Amino acid sequence: MGTLKKSHLFYQSQNHRPVLDQARGIYMWDVDGERYLDGSSGAMVCNIGHSNEYVLEAMRRQMDKSTFGYRLHFETEPAELLASKVAALSPEGLDKVFFVSGGSEAVESAIKLARQYALASGQPKRWKVISRFPSYHGCTLGALALTGYTSLTKPFDPMMQAMPKIPAPTAYLDGLNPDDPETGRHYADMLETCILEEGPDSILAFIVEPVGGASTGALVPPVGYMERIREICSQYNILLIHDEVMTGGGRTGQFFAGEHWGVAPDILVLSKGFSAGYVPLGAMIAHNDIVDAVMAEGGFLHGFTYAGNPLACSAGLAVIEQIETQGLLKNAEDIGGVLKHRLVGLMDRYPFIGDVRGMGLLLAFELVSDRNTMRPLPKELAAFDLLVDIAYSNGLIIYSRRTRGGLEGDHFLVCPPMITTEAQV
Ligand code: PLP
Repeated sequence: MGTLKKSHLFYQSQNHRPVLDQARGIYMWDVDGERYLDGSSGAMVCNIGHSNEYVLEAMRRQMDKSTFGYRLHFETEPAELLASKVAALSPEGLDKVFFVSGGSEAVESAIKLARQYALASGQPKRWKVISRFPSYHGCTLGALALTGYTSLTKPFDPMMQAMPKIPAPTAYLDGLNPDDPETGRHYADMLETCILEEGPDSILAFIVEPVGGASTGALVPPVGYMERIREICSQYNILLIHDEVMTGGGRTGQFFAGEHWGVAPDILVLSKGFSAGYVPLGAMIAHNDIVDAVMAEGGFLHGFTYAGNPLACSAGLAVIEQIETQGLLKNAEDIGGVLKHRLVGLMDRYPFIGDVRGMGLLLAFELVSDRNTMRPLPKELAAFDLLVDIAYSNGLIIYSRRTRGGLEGDHFLVCPPMITTEAQV
């Protein structure tokens, strides 16, 4: 493997991975010429595959014109075009688009806009944002305060405002049937209980990943859950935020995962698959009424230097055009179905695969000691690292995480690009 002996870079942990040379379609090559199948699209990012010529050409055209225009000095054509495209794809009424450069920035933007909306609409006591445990909403302190992932949050607890959490609907762990509407109601009603305990007038918003990502491993909500949480939020005048950072951009088979349940949030955030790894980009899309109220009070007190970068927006627009012209939503659904079937098939051979779950090409499997009790594998086994290494040495990249809030258990996300063919599965 082409690894570096010495590096001045540092990330979350020591990294001795191969040095990337180039990537095309669903494959990546290291500097020694070893080929890897990108089985997780990086971190569920490279949805349309690597080095898509249409996107690269759009970026080249934009680079020849301008690569930066500060948003307080200039509007840019790519940002305008992309905003209207995103507004057209978003649920009715969500027409206002605010660009950022990543998922954490998008989440920060959403909670700050929500807070300003509460002030603008004469509800200054509302500031708490309810989220779920486990969940992942980003690594900046505001987004981290909403994140239910103990191993990532604990060191920073004294620096963050504690926010209320409700259990994520992990029916597979709790021995409940996710297809039973009673199960969906059971978990959704925990939101109402939390609202009543905290005091409805203190709650600003509830944030939810429609299909869970890194923390719960492709957790699909039980029947009726998404609809019921929408009802509860409306009943108590609480803003519903869909965190579609991982799901937005088509991976589940719809451009936004929320579309599977026909429910519209008040604010939604996306990143990752939005520019599909070509250049950093994210967005918060908010209901007109929210933005109009905040603008009427003097404007949104928030913004990042690189927001609405014309190069990033030209890439984002070209990515969406590729999703549409190549029919990639349908491919994600069809190929996801084939892949899921094959993963479920592996359960017959490997009793330590406790669960296979997900939707479209956002799929995961979880390793357990005992499928009946869903007891995790012993930590000492370090299955997490072991399986990733085995996959690497066989030319496959998968995405692994500790599950159950980062406390125990191992799950692996299997999320190849949406251009994957049945033969490649
Ligand atoms: N929200 C969700 C659901 C995510 O999956 C992620 C990243 O994995 C984030 C937010 C944070 O995004 P970023 O890493 O781009 O800041």
